[in-house]
Amino acid sequence: MKHIFLSLIVATGCTLFPSAWAAKPERTTTVIEHVTVVPMTANGAVLRNATVVIEKDRIVALQGPVPAGARRIDGRGKWLIPGLTDMHIHMESDGYLRPKKYPTEPPSLFFDTQDIMTPYLANGVTQIFNLDAKAESFAQRNQVEKGEVLGPHMALAALIDSGKPQGRIANTPSDGRQAVRDAKAEGYEFIKLYSGLDVETFAAIVDEANKQGLKTVGHIPEAFEGKLESAFVPNFGMIAHAEEFSKHSADFSDEDARRFAEMAKRNGTWITPTLTTMKWIASETRSLDELRASPTLQYAHPLLQSKWLVANRYNRNSTPELIAYFDRMVEFHTRLVRACKAAGVPIVAGTDTLTSGVVAGFSLHDELALLVGAGLTNEEALASATRLPAVWLGVDGDRGTIEVGKRADLVLLDADPLADVAITRRIAGVFINGRWTDRARLDAMLADLSRRNTENKDQFDFKKMTR
Ligand SMILES: [Zn+2]
Repeated sequence: MKHIFLSLIVATGCTLFPSAWAAKPERTTTVIEHVTVVPMTANGAVLRNATVVIEKDRIVALQGPVPAGARRIDGRGKWLIPGLTDMHIHMESDGYLRPKKYPTEPPSLFFDTQDIMTPYLANGVTQIFNLDAKAESFAQRNQVEKGEVLGPHMALAALIDSGKPQGRIANTPSDGRQAVRDAKAEGYEFIKLYSGLDVETFAAIVDEANKQGLKTVGHIPEAFEGKLESAFVPNFGMIAHAEEFSKHSADFSDEDARRFAEMAKRNGTWITPTLTTMKWIASETRSLDELRASPTLQYAHPLLQSKWLVANRYNRNSTPELIAYFDRMVEFHTRLVRACKAAGVPIVAGTDTLTSGVVAGFSLHDELALLVGAGLTNEEALASATRLPAVWLGVDGDRGTIEVGKRADLVLLDADPLADVAITRRIAGVFINGRWTDRARLDAMLADLSRRNTENKDQFDFKKMTR
């Protein structure tokens, strides 16, 4: 009875049903045969010659049998890992880039959600953490979750800062608590603390966020100069950059690295080192040559390319002293990561995508390589972008590892990533919510994006087009 009723509604085109469902009839069962599975569970051994069965958006078996009528993917010689997470990104939106006016005349400044998501998808990134989410971020997230756009799941943090008359401002502890309650009411899931907050307001925000069930991630405000220890209030969840520590070190000593790592460890605070960001900042402070020659630049929106090349503040403010300082900082961060590992501070992979030079998706692989360069094993680097982010974000019951019952967010690789983390770039295809996109399709999407970005590039001028 129920079934007849439903099919009648579908037949009459009732708008209660998202059009994407009707438009994209996916085969609901897919099997990857003879594949090597790297489950990334805490103690999970690699599973050889597995038959992974995916039904709709779930993994339903790791050892067959193959259901009749299933689509079959040959996994021989291939390795399956959980989809990757980038734990520190920013995203194109009106609220973030502040274009002056549109879409009155070409070039349109609309940010197309699929174009934003394609580089993540093509790089096996199935989850991202937006650390300065805006109103539009909810719409972008929902387009993905409804299946209208192929892209990563997005967790949303509201940024709270002090001082400037824009964004969420909190100049007093009671303002800070109210800003947290407002953000929660608006649907934000996390709170990002920013550099201008005073000591008392910072502590009040962390405390209120905990009361409201929201985790916190942040910069360590300048107000903690000389009293870094007091930033480690209970429930301060995660440090957003290694730089938040290094700017509090006078001499970049191993002693400081150890001291910082101990502070985080004692407080249960995790860290996203974002090594790739500081590497790009150092490079651009020296010259824009490396950025201009970057093979991934073509996948960034032309307005961003303009911002990075024409309005690059790191390059504009360059001095020989600053160049030397950033070079030392880049080196110190590798020792800081090593100290965090030694102290047992959980390390998660984040890129700070949208900082000049840091391109969505591609940059996560740069970060993984840098983390291994700083002393993580290949497996630890993989964990920093799979199981551990899911744990911090509170979604580990649903994703982050390959297990029966988990969401089918998966990346099929051409070789063994445990032998060399760079193999995570060699992607044969990606599953998001059980939907498979193969290499040929990923390449076609990237080529199309690059072509359109390049064609329109000269029409974008960040200085003229943004507020
Ligand atoms: Zn950031």
